[in-house]
Amino acid sequence: MKYNLPVCHHCGEKNSVRKHGIARTGVQRFYCMACKRSFQDKYIYHSCEDKIIKKVKSEIDNGISYVDISRKFGIELRLVHRYISRLTKEGSI
Ligand SMILES: [Zn+2]
Repeated sequence: MKYNLPVCHHCGEKNSVRKHGIARTGVQRFYCMACKRSFQDKYIYHSCEDKIIKKVKSEIDNGISYVDISRKFGIELRLVHRYISRLTKEGSI
């Protein structure tokens, strides 16, 4: 099974992210070769959430399907749905 690599949480680069071992908490760690910083997968749900939501919105605007968005950003489909409902509530889409 292929793991979807997330975008870099620091610079947003998606082609320079590599796996960087597993943290003690069991969370997958990643390393970005573009900005040379590491991050954990879980952060995507917190500090970088707004950045991701903005990207999800622009994909929606481009007519990209939820499944493709989920694959592209390496986030779960149900999370995409949550973002969409949040955007809808905010009146953004
Ligand atoms: Zn980076």
